[in-house]
Amino acid sequence: CGIVGITGNRVALPVLLRGLQKLEYRGYDSAGVYVNDSANNQEFFFKEKGRVDQLEALVADKDIHGNTGIAHTRWATHGIPSAHNSHPHVSASGRFFLVHNGVIENFRELKETYLQGVEFKSETDTEVAVQLVAKFVEQDGLTVTDAFRKVLTLIGAGSYGFVLADNQNPDVLYVARNKSPLLLGLGDGFTVVTSDAAAMLEYTHEFMALNDGEMAIIKGTDIEILDAASQPVKHESFTIEIDA
Ligand code: GLU
Repeated sequence: CGIVGITGNRVALPVLLRGLQKLEYRGYDSAGVYVNDSANNQEFFFKEKGRVDQLEALVADKDIHGNTGIAHTRWATHGIPSAHNSHPHVSASGRFFLVHNGVIENFRELKETYLQGVEFKSETDTEVAVQLVAKFVEQDGLTVTDAFRKVLTLIGAGSYGFVLADNQNPDVLYVARNKSPLLLGLGDGFTVVTSDAAAMLEYTHEFMALNDGEMAIIKGTDIEILDAASQPVKHESFTIEIDA
């Protein structure tokens, strides 16, 4: 239902939690967050059924640093509202973390075709996407960019706003959208990703939109956008003149 992500020069967790609060008005049944502290070789991963303040209570006594992270509020479409069905979802290898808005209609076929024998931790459509990225990278030797593009192609007509994190390349976020809103927010030394600009207006007023089927690879303020044929494209940014 709602997505926020960040990479760059800011401590991620407070921005992500604030973003989730701002997304609450859209409705949701659970919330989760993943933060990578690459400087200290640590990662943090928490999810909870219920309200954002319950997630906040869960992380309150932890010392969570790190400048890269993703967070999600879920409105369940496949799989009951529960901690294990909430996002982010993680690959069986523990390497890839993914948040998703939307619906992957053909997830059962994809699971049957490509993921026999993989142990799933949830009943969601979303988990298929993160397990597929992991399979294409870890077993088939694709780059993460190529694996992610292959997954987007396989999903076909499904709807998605995706943000993917890879703990082997911890300061990078991979982003894609199709028929689901997702914006990049351009900050001073950082970039945010959000499904709703209102969630990030405290941090930036400068945004860039992705078109359906495009993906972006973001590290700090470096943004590379690729179209559905994996060709580089450039987009102009625009300013949203509303107060946070
Ligand atoms: N289809 C996904 C799920 O049920 C994502 C739902 C959402 O957009 O929050 O977990």
